[in-house]
Parts: sequence; structure tokens; C-alpha cells
Amino acid sequence: MLWRKVLYTGSTMTVSDCLFCKIVKGEIPARKIYEDEHSFAFLDINPVNPGHTLLLPKEHSRNILEISDETFSKIAPVLKKLSVAVKKGVRADGINIHINNEAPAGQAIFHTHFHIIPRFSNDGIRMWHGKSYKEGEEGHVAENIMAQL
Ligand code: 5GP
Ligand code: ZN
Repeated sequence: MLWRKVLYTGSTMTVSDCLFCKIVKGEIPARKIYEDEHSFAFLDINPVNPGHTLLLPKEHSRNILEISDETFSKIAPVLKKLSVAVKKGVRADGINIHINNEAPAGQAIFHTHFHIIPRFSNDGIRMWHGKSYKEGEEGHVAENIMAQL
């Protein structure tokens, strides 16, 4: 079998080891919601709320920091379509689109995926708590980010 090696920051893994690649190939079962030439969506096994869906490009990439522009552009319309379908399908009041990129940001499966999370009024979920900038920090941070563009 030809195993494609992918080089990541300081480590190698085979695409064959990737759980989500295995789900796309049907080697591991999942409750499929949608599939087309480039994308695949299924229910998260541990939903934040019922209907919590994972959408992924079939082509393996580690996360949004490494995905190709071409693959990203192909999945964007599907993300919109599925968001509408999930919201209507479970009669949600809103939808969170969530992407974890790298372990410190909560990424556990290193194949790019979008969480489509149905939200309900008073479901009590608080995604994060905002902080305040220190004096002068805001401009400095903005300049540093803009210098990378
Ligand atoms: P991450 O933390 O990488 O952004 O999210 C990974 C998600 O994949 C988690 O929400 C987790 O519940 C889900 N997950 C992990 N393993 C499986 C699996 O085997 N099947 C399904 N359907 N979801 C999974
Ligand atoms: Zn993969």
C-alpha cells in the first residue's frame, strides 16, 4: 500500500493514521449527513448539542493554518448550506461555527474540520470570556498582526 507521508512542523504522520480520513473512506463508521466530491460531514460522537456536525474537506490537511486556498474555497459554500440545514433540522435558535487549530486551541483530531454547533436560547453554553487590553496594547497587537499579512 502506498502511504502518503505528510511533513508537519517537526513531526511526520501518515494520512493512513488519520481518524477522519478513515471515516471519509468508510473504514470507521460515522452518522453521515452529507458528502460530495470534496467534502464530508457527519455527526460528532460527543455533541455539544444534538445535531452537532463536523464538516471536513476530504483532502487531508492538518488545520486551517495549512489548508490550501483551493480546498478552503470549495468547502465554504458547503459550510453555509450545512449550517442552514442543521439549524432547521434540529429547530435551533442559532449556530456556532467553530474551528480548533493546534492542541492549545483544543484541536484533538489533526484533520481540518469545522464544528457546526446548534445553539438554543438559554442552553447555558458560554464559549469564552473576554478580557480587556492593557493601556497601549491594542495598537501594538494590531500592528504586529498587520505586519504578517
Ligand atoms: P477537535 O477537538 O479536534 O476540534 O474536535 C474533534 C471532534 O471529533 C470532537 O468533538 C470529538 O467528539 C469528535 N470525534 C472524535 N472521534 C470521533 C469519532 O470516532 N466519530 C465521531 N463521529 N466523532 C468523533
Ligand atoms: Zn485526514
